[in-house]
Amino acid sequence: MNQACRATYSISQTLVDCSKCGHLLDIAYDWSRIPVPGSMRQFESRWSSRRNPLDFSGVWRFRELLPFAKDEQIVTIGEGQTILQSSAGVGKYAGFQSGKLLLQYEGLNPSGSFKDNGMTAASTHAHMVGAKVAACASTGNTSASLAIYSSTTRLFETIVFIGSGKISFGKLSQALDYGAKTLQIQGDFDDALRQVRDVCAARGIYLCNSVNPFRLEGQKSIMFRVLEGLNWEVPDWIVVPGGNLGNSSAFGKAFTELKELGLINRIPRLAVINASGSNTLYQLFEQHKLRWNGGRLDEAKIITDKFFTQMDADNRRASTLATAIEINRPVNLLKCLRALEVCDGVVREVSDELILEAKAQIGAGGFGCEPASAASVAGAKLLREQGVISPSDRVVCILTGHQLKDPTATVAYHSVDPARLSAAAATEDDAYATMLRKAGVTQTPAANRPIVVENKFESIMALLDRIGC
Ligand SMILES: *Cc1c(COP(=O)(O)O)cnc(C)c1O
Ligand SMILES: [Zn+2]
Repeated sequence: MNQACRATYSISQTLVDCSKCGHLLDIAYDWSRIPVPGSMRQFESRWSSRRNPLDFSGVWRFRELLPFAKDEQIVTIGEGQTILQSSAGVGKYAGFQSGKLLLQYEGLNPSGSFKDNGMTAASTHAHMVGAKVAACASTGNTSASLAIYSSTTRLFETIVFIGSGKISFGKLSQALDYGAKTLQIQGDFDDALRQVRDVCAARGIYLCNSVNPFRLEGQKSIMFRVLEGLNWEVPDWIVVPGGNLGNSSAFGKAFTELKELGLINRIPRLAVINASGSNTLYQLFEQHKLRWNGGRLDEAKIITDKFFTQMDADNRRASTLATAIEINRPVNLLKCLRALEVCDGVVREVSDELILEAKAQIGAGGFGCEPASAASVAGAKLLREQGVISPSDRVVCILTGHQLKDPTATVAYHSVDPARLSAAAATEDDAYATMLRKAGVTQTPAANRPIVVENKFESIMALLDRIGC
């Protein structure tokens, strides 16, 4: 169903936008015809039948809440084995009372990012409609995820479109290793997405970006697991990085439906965090006051058209070391506005310097994540400092991707000589310093620098004395 004009289409069609109004489609259920459990606790009991792949999956364990496929149609590779955890160090860093900040660690998915939650659902629909080829544009994790579903299940071939230059090696290596046909477009992610949408439409290829509404159905399960981790209590805040805004949109839809079904009694607040180098949502929501406005989007259209026209005229391109959210034209913008309305949400931007600092704190707290994921903790810290979130609020930050996705950013942060971060000390041959300086990083207070020592027993012993080990 379409979110604005309420046109409906059959589940057997392969569409992403409405042919009448051009907005993205939503999956809508007639809950009166579907058996819905009386309480969320019933899903927990499935832990005891984990030999059934559908009960093992952290997505399909909740299949009554995304009931678009028959059991035998479902494509699963055991995604969503992720849990809510706490880290005293990270909570303290962000300014929270003990135990109040929780981390939903989605890096533990089969391909190392939350994308698997959505890709299992998109793969299921691709299977339902008999697709032979699937494609996506990607800053890296979507392609890694689609590629693993394709290579594991052999149900379809995969083509991934990536931009040039920015993709991290951890992610590129996955697409190549899993055997996806990989097209490197001479452009950025926004260009690659535009191309793949046209190519898929022209060739009848199944499109797996988050314009695909089935992706969002799967990603709702991240919130189901958060609630499960809290013994079915609703937290005060969900904090999530914002890129193409599929996650934030899915979270809003999850809470709307749970409330409608009487399975929760209130909805948490939502904070979406942009990197300052790709802050379209922040600018539109916080500065231009763009709102969902109950679905009356005439004014929104005027504001966004003007914004994107100006962006193109200025040739403004997204730029952040948090490459997974380096996106200037978020496709789920309107759905995200709806989520922000339902969840009484806020949007913030954080600098690459603060993202990398938060990332190092998350690492020191026992959780590895990639830069984009750390925007959530950096954002929670900022909202705490601004007094929007109180130290006693129960806050869940989503760690969207695994640390090993982007080791370059990690090694650069920890090993760069801080003296080289000032423009005066710049030398072109220092690749890490150049990379960080370009991202506006001027200091690395959370760095754990490797110590160079002579290849001599006495020198090593003297060093250990000096550092008190
Ligand atoms: C895709 C991705 C994001 C952005 O999520 P959206 O749903 O596009 O907003 C954030 N972090 C990581 C690690 C990602 O892979
Ligand atoms: Zn429509």
